[in-house]
Amino acid sequence: MGRIAYVNGRFVPHAEAVVHIEDRGYQFADAVYEVWALFDGRLADAEGHFARLERSLSELRIPMPMSRAALTVVLREAVRRNRVREGLLYLQVSRGVAPREHPFPAEDTPPAVVITVSRVDRAASEARAAKGVGVVTTAENRWSRCDIKTVGLLPNVLAKQKAKEAGAVEAWFVDDLGFVTEGGSSNAWIVDGDGVLRTRDTNANILRGVTRLSLLDVIREAGLKVEERPFTPDEARAAKEAFITGAGSLVLPVVSVDGKPVGNGVPGPIATKLRRLYIERAKAHSI
Ligand code: PLP
Repeated sequence: MGRIAYVNGRFVPHAEAVVHIEDRGYQFADAVYEVWALFDGRLADAEGHFARLERSLSELRIPMPMSRAALTVVLREAVRRNRVREGLLYLQVSRGVAPREHPFPAEDTPPAVVITVSRVDRAASEARAAKGVGVVTTAENRWSRCDIKTVGLLPNVLAKQKAKEAGAVEAWFVDDLGFVTEGGSSNAWIVDGDGVLRTRDTNANILRGVTRLSLLDVIREAGLKVEERPFTPDEARAAKEAFITGAGSLVLPVVSVDGKPVGNGVPGPIATKLRRLYIERAKAHSI
């Protein structure tokens, strides 16, 4: 059985799933998205992703396309139809289809909804986590509302391509003051020389990662010290450990920054333990 996508009220074969050329997501990046990790066919950290979706939409004055309860049914049905147990679910909501004018279209224009489901090879992900990944740094050049999860991802695309060409997996944006904000599709963390976990605070221009938020709970439950305080790339290289978090990467050890090793250049014990604890928690909080 092939992949199935959801487009504006219908489940269709993935290869035939299309949106209108005047979809505002396509023409203006006037759309938001969410990504859920799927564990055993269930949506991980479901509540956090729904809450952020509602916030992103409300900040842009796009109505929820349907109630949270109805959306949950549709998301689960998308997972079921694709028969995916371990994977990712992508949801995009745009301001809808309308003649190309910058201001908002007529109030009765329904938001456009697209859902895709993809499989993840957990054994390959675990092997990657066991090896650790490299990151590169790049100058922050995004707009000032990175707290809204919009599909306007061109700086992230360019940053992640730069990482790929350098043999790395993620790019960390560095702001005017020299501090890391976050990655192209993940939040950035270190374990500093004093053994304190550090990640950027959410007053900064970053996405409020759902994985980041859950991991803060995990860290506190584990009795580890954590500070929401910025760090520089030099501090990351001098740190004991570094890692990134996101629905795709989960908790992924970082072993080099701009080609120079972090700590011993291998995944550290704290990141490795937090990955295990996070996955356990995400499974317990999935629906
Ligand atoms: N930061 C950015 C820019 C992202 O695109 C993402 C995820 O795609 C994250 C952080 C991590 O967020 P989450 O943990 O909610 O997946």
